[in-house]
Amino acid sequence: RQLTDINLLADEFLKLAYHGMRAKDKDFNAEIVTNFDENLPKVNIVQQDIGRVLLNLFNNAFYAVNEKKKTEGDGYTPQVTITTFTPPLGGWGAIVRDNGNGIPDAIKDKIMQPFFTTKPTGQGTGLGLSISYDIVVKGHGGKIEVQSREGEGSEFVVQIPG
Ligand code: ADP
Ligand code: MG
Repeated sequence: RQLTDINLLADEFLKLAYHGMRAKDKDFNAEIVTNFDENLPKVNIVQQDIGRVLLNLFNNAFYAVNEKKKTEGDGYTPQVTITTFTPPLGGWGAIVRDNGNGIPDAIKDKIMQPFFTTKPTGQGTGLGLSISYDIVVKGHGGKIEVQSREGEGSEFVVQIPG
């Protein structure tokens, strides 16, 4: 574990995910909004693991908004937001939000399962969220929650105790 500035870590992986998406799709563009809690104390985490969680969430968010862009066209501005916060009981939290198509109710219970994916072959392994769940819940004693409205977007909230 290393003492880590979560805001810096999140910013780094957000850029990585964004550039990764642009490398795959030259036309890709998204508005990135950062709401960093500047008072968040440094936290003791396994950087590679939490980095991986954030990267998975950002990759999913950029993918979701890019899919929506394909059907909505120019009237739609893809947007991905990262928020960090201090939960009431301490520790730290991060929220990754997108204004993509959201997650249908019928699959909400399945998205954390290993190998569950709705992406075409080669575009998704279905492991991102299950690995993230293991890292957050089993590895760091935290929780990961999803809120989504079909057609409007998704929000993944990660909370890790201090
Ligand atoms: P993968 O990205 O390889 O499909 P994940 O475990 O990361 O695997 O995600 C599993 C599934 O959850 C995705 O295929 C998708 O159906 C759904 N999902 C995850 N994040 C989002 C999101 N931000 N918006 C819409 N659907 C999502
Ligand atoms: Mg994924």
